Parts: sequence; structure tokens; C-alpha cells
Amino acid sequence: MYTPFKHEPFTDFSVKENKKAFEDALKKVKGELNKDYTLLVNGQHIKTDNKITSVNPAKKDEVVGTVSKADQEIAEQAMQAASDAFEDWRKWSAESRAGILFRAAAKIRRRKHEFSAYLAYEVGKPWKEADADTAEAIDFLEYYARQMIELDKGKHVESREGEMNRYIYQPSGVAVVIPPWNLAFAIMAGTTVAPLVTGSTVVMKPASNSPVIAAKFVEVLEESGLPKGVLNFVPGSGGEVGDYLVDHPKTSLISFTGSRDVGTRIIEKAAKVQPGQNHLKQVIAEMGGKDTVVVDKSADIDTAVDAIVVSAFGFSGQKCSSGSRAVVHEDVYDEVLDRVAKETKELSVGNATEDNVYMGPVVDQAAFDKIMGYMEVGKEEGRLVVGGNGDDSKGYFIEPTVFADLDPKSRMQQEEIFGPVVCFTKVKDFDEAIEVANNTEYGLTGAVISEDRQNLERAARDFHVGNLYFNRNCTGAIVGYQPFGGFKMSGTDSKAGGPDYLQLHMQAKTISEML
Ligand code: GLU
Repeated sequence: MYTPFKHEPFTDFSVKENKKAFEDALKKVKGELNKDYTLLVNGQHIKTDNKITSVNPAKKDEVVGTVSKADQEIAEQAMQAASDAFEDWRKWSAESRAGILFRAAAKIRRRKHEFSAYLAYEVGKPWKEADADTAEAIDFLEYYARQMIELDKGKHVESREGEMNRYIYQPSGVAVVIPPWNLAFAIMAGTTVAPLVTGSTVVMKPASNSPVIAAKFVEVLEESGLPKGVLNFVPGSGGEVGDYLVDHPKTSLISFTGSRDVGTRIIEKAAKVQPGQNHLKQVIAEMGGKDTVVVDKSADIDTAVDAIVVSAFGFSGQKCSSGSRAVVHEDVYDEVLDRVAKETKELSVGNATEDNVYMGPVVDQAAFDKIMGYMEVGKEEGRLVVGGNGDDSKGYFIEPTVFADLDPKSRMQQEEIFGPVVCFTKVKDFDEAIEVANNTEYGLTGAVISEDRQNLERAARDFHVGNLYFNRNCTGAIVGYQPFGGFKMSGTDSKAGGPDYLQLHMQAKTISEML
């Protein structure tokens, strides 16, 4: 009935036609800038006077679009609509719901570069990163659609003589989805369609830095046949709309991706039973990281250098998977540091919509100020080797930066910076490397570069992260291949794009019948 899952291939921009196709998409999107987008409640497109203005972080005066902003009254209407629509949507067959995802994936694939171009404009994503973000969005649609069709069969349980037992999955109810701006398409799309395909209905509040790409995605789902009320789109502030949705007694499930502070606050709020609430809320929270690339003395140095640079500076270090710490054996420390410094100096920084640059801007003024603040901390705590400067006159540009000789307990090696900064710490042996790698409150991703099989096995057992990579970078998990999610304060280990993800959005039911 459907082909096996296969991940969406990335575009090779060294091929002339591909480069041209992407430039054409950028031109098309430029012509569509500054449009006004509506919110969506119960199938109605609503315009409000209050707007979120989305700007290009590389060019502060370039408006990507304005998006109507919900208040609590609209949020309440969205909750009612989602709750009413659930009664019908949950009865749709898994194939029919999955069919909408398959159609949406096909539509996005046909206009792939256009969506990536929006990511370049709205969050300053370089072409390669934007292309990967769009590919991942397609992957989530394709993967969860297939998974739901399988899951709908339930799981085998044993039956005794004279008895028939069944074990099936049912949807949770109304899901509140609060996605991030960094994987602005992939995570937004993935966290939205996962509850939808299971038969839950959704109220989605996009990130305020990336509401336009979210509005474009909502359009695709509508065009693909999603009935009214099943998905409601309510851009708005976290304090006003986000909290209201989280607290709402009709909310069954909250799927959040973002900072540790907001995530832990959501978990706390969701635990409080509200008047009129007759169920416990399920929470999926994917939060921060302070991710480490460990370099063993036996490491292949080219692999180590590449892993550190790619992990640290891809999308300007604005991934929760970014490798912001390099923990390197003393025998190879100087060589690895020198080589990383040299490669870092060669990275191009600029406007992702104009050039195919390696690094674009950081997302907004608050991010710029926070990262630049850490530059000062880094100079006090360690040794600045490369970078350290920023320029926010036109956009929010920060140089890729390397600090050396950091104490593992320093702020630079403990706090999530979420910017293009990597800090080196020297260790005397592999035991110390693993100890340092584990000494943060996070546990999301990590990489080990080593030719020593015993050390790799040791890391497999003791390096406590949700996604561990050997002899490669620690970013760029692929749906279906590297299910993604972390331990400790990084989140609830939901493993997005993995075989157990949809179950987290459902409730298992046992039916036992006497024959
Ligand atoms: N899944 C992404 C990766 O593996 C990171 C997701 C995030 O930054 O939230 O790089």
C-alpha cells in the first residue's frame, strides 16, 4: 500500500541546476515578503489587529511577514473547536489520517526549495541547513504516517484458554503543541502531525521568531484535506496564550520543544489538576543541551577536527544538539585546537538569503546579546583563540568563536550558550574525558572520536546522553535512523522520529473477553 520509508535526500548545491533552482525559490519568496497571515480556529481564518512581525535576522528592516496574534478569548475558542472536532476525528481510520500526511509530504516535496527559502529569510538558515530542515519535515510526515498504520493494528498479548485479549492504542484528546524556532519547519511539523495522525486534535502555538513558516505549513495541511477544528493555529505570547493552553482543563497532551526553563515550568504547570479536569496531562518536553565532542588520543585528527567544527557551527550553534564543548586528550590537544582554529577562521559568515554562506546570523537581538555576554565570560574564564566579535548594526552576526583551556566546571562549560561558540577542555585520559563529558545537567547528544574499540564500548555504556555518535559530529539526527531525544535536564527522552514516538501521544487499552 505504501513504499518503505526512505529519508528525503539532501540537495547537492554544487550541481548548477540545483543552485539555480534554489536562487529562483529565493527570488519567488522575496516577492512574497511582508504578507499578512491569519490565524486558524475551527476552519475560520481570523485577522486580528495585534500582529507578530517576523523579520529577517540578517536584515532587521526586512519584514518576512506579519501574523495575526491570538489572545485568551481566541485560545479558548481554539480549545473548544479542538475538543469538539476530536469526537469525529478520532473515528477516522488510521489510513485516512495517514493519507493526509502522505499528501502533505508530496506537496512539500514539490515545493521544497520554496519552504527552504522561507527558512533562509525567517530564521537566517544557510541553504544546506534549510534544505535539511525541510527534508526532515517531509521525513516526519512520511515516517509517522507509516508508523500509525502499523500501530493501529495494536500489539500482540497472550490469551488463556476460553479468553480473547486485545491490546490497542487510542488517541489522547486535545494536544497543545509549542514548537521551537530553530528547526522551524521540521520540529514544528513533526510535533504537530504526530498527535494529529494518532487521532488527537491540535492547538498549535508557533514560536514567535518563526510564525510564517508555520502558517505556510498550516496552509498545506488544509489543502491536504484536514477537516475544520482538527488543527487550530494560534500564534501568541507564551505568557498569555501559551500558559492558558497549558493550564486548560481540556488539554490532554502538551508537546513542547524549547528552553529548559520554559520546559520545566510547563511540566510543573501541567501537574496541577485544574477545576473541571478529569484526566492527567501527558507532557513531552525536549529542552536544552550542553553537548560534548570527546577526542581520544587514538583519534583520527581529520575526523576530530571536522566533528568539532560541524557540531559547533552548523546553524550558528543554535541547535540543542550543537557540540559546544570539545574535551580533548592532552596528547592531541594542541594539534586539534590549532587545526580547529584554522578551519574556523575560514568559515564564511553572511546573509543566508544572498549567498550560500556557511553561517548566517543568530536569530534575534536577545540571542545576540546573550551570546555576546558569554564572550566576556569566556575571556575571563579561558583563552580566546578565534572570533569573539559580533555586529548587530544590520543583522545579528557573530563570528564563529573558539575558547581554549576551560575548567570543566566553568560557566562556559556548563551553561547552554546556543550560539557559535566552542570551548576546549584538556583531559589526561579517557576516564577523565567521560567524567567531564557527563558533568553537566544535560544529556542530549555527544560524540566520541576514537580508534580504540574498548574506549568506544566504554562510552556506549557510560557516556550518558540520548544520542551518542562515534567518529562523526553530534548534530543532524535523521528521522527513522537516529531517533532523537535526551536524558537528564534535556527532556523526557521522547525520541522523535523513532519507533516509540507515537505511543507517547496515545493511551494503550486492554480488552479482555470471555469466549
Ligand atoms: N534533531 C536535531 C539534530 O539532531 C536537533 C534538534 C534541536 O536542535 O532541537 O541536530
